[in-house]
Amino acid sequence: MQAFEATNFYFDQAAKELDLTENVRTMLITPDREVRVEVAIELDSGKIGNFIGYRVQHDNARGPFKGGLRFHPLVDQDEARSLASLMTWKTAVVDLPYGGAKGGVNCDPNKLSRGELERVTRKLIEKIHDIIGPHKDIPAPDMGTDAQVMAWIMNEYGKYEGFQPACVTGKPVEFHGSAGRDAATGFGIAIITREVLSRLKRLVAGTTVAIQGYGNVGSHAARCLAGMGARIVSVSDAYGAVMNPEGINIGELDRHVAVSRKVVGFKGGDAITNEQLLTMSVDVLIPAALGGVFDREMALAVQAGVIVEAANGPTWPEADEVFNQRGIIVVPDVLANAGGVVVSYFEWVQNLQHFRWPLEQIQREEERKLVDAFGEIHELGQRKGVTLRTAAFMKAIARVGRAHVLGGM
Ligand code: NAD
Repeated sequence: MQAFEATNFYFDQAAKELDLTENVRTMLITPDREVRVEVAIELDSGKIGNFIGYRVQHDNARGPFKGGLRFHPLVDQDEARSLASLMTWKTAVVDLPYGGAKGGVNCDPNKLSRGELERVTRKLIEKIHDIIGPHKDIPAPDMGTDAQVMAWIMNEYGKYEGFQPACVTGKPVEFHGSAGRDAATGFGIAIITREVLSRLKRLVAGTTVAIQGYGNVGSHAARCLAGMGARIVSVSDAYGAVMNPEGINIGELDRHVAVSRKVVGFKGGDAITNEQLLTMSVDVLIPAALGGVFDREMALAVQAGVIVEAANGPTWPEADEVFNQRGIIVVPDVLANAGGVVVSYFEWVQNLQHFRWPLEQIQREEERKLVDAFGEIHELGQRKGVTLRTAAFMKAIARVGRAHVLGGM
């Protein structure tokens, strides 16, 4: 099964509950537009670097397309299609006036110099600037892209369309970005973890947590959860994992990672494998790296009671079924990691207003959005006797479908 099929599998589970007709189902799952462009640049060596870029615009019934740009060797059309569709449902779950899109460039940013990365970014925007924009499609960071890449996008877009900071979100704070955007997804993961634990009559304080992936999302989630009193017993990155049953000192880990760029070698814990992290006995497991982490076999081995999906698409449908049968609660990506797009929305609003909000206001509003969304989805799930994932898709499909009806064909 490929990523887009997996997303549509979850869509269909909810569609069955909603009695969607086949035509409406087809209309809602079919992407609006798919673009594939050649991104050829001059490398530092003087040779030509050939890359392929993608942008899939899935649905814009509720507002402009919105979604990240990923620079990664696994980026392809199917992945972009799946993630674009997830964005449609995610923006609807948290009730933002957006649709869904996703894209990226098939490249390994670790093997590109800063100059090459800038040229890849500018070439991509040269190719797609006419289909993006503040009221058309607003890109944001994802794996392999950061605030600097977003700044280059704003600058390149401006060459064609004039000064329009709202054309992209996730920009540096001192360059039309928003306070709190960097930490937004990880902060949101901590809020959602607190909410799901509260429904189980449990507190964050003292809860044991393992986090796969110590990049932007994983590290901010670790800091926020540790700040709320959780015991972060294990974290990993692409090179390996560390574990400390007493709880990892996150401040010390951050100092180690700042120097070595890896969690491996951290003296405040023991080295373990990534697989050991995923199957250890913890209260909460947070996948915050790549998609497709849990297959059936891995789902049978997981010992956590709650999974909070910080990554996009970490669970294949076969694994989701096992989690359900085993009573493991899964907070789905479309709800769990929506904090990033919520604060992207605040950045867009600030750019359109040419006005800045303070960090306290942003975090307060983000928390309110996520608490409300979690409450709605949890209540719907309880009332209909379905999982949080199916409830989230039901809520999102109903909202997007309603927008199509109100807007007219
Ligand atoms: P990132 O590139 O900053 O970090 C990814 C981390 O995962 C790195 O520490 C990397 O070493 C690690 N990793 C990669 N392969 C791994 C493996 N096989 N095992 C363990 N660790 C591995 O990316 P990010 O922005 O933190 O995004 C992480 C996930 O969260 C992605 O799925 C992304 O789509 C999703 N997400 C990100 C945001 C955001 O605001 N950044 C928002 C929503 C969802």
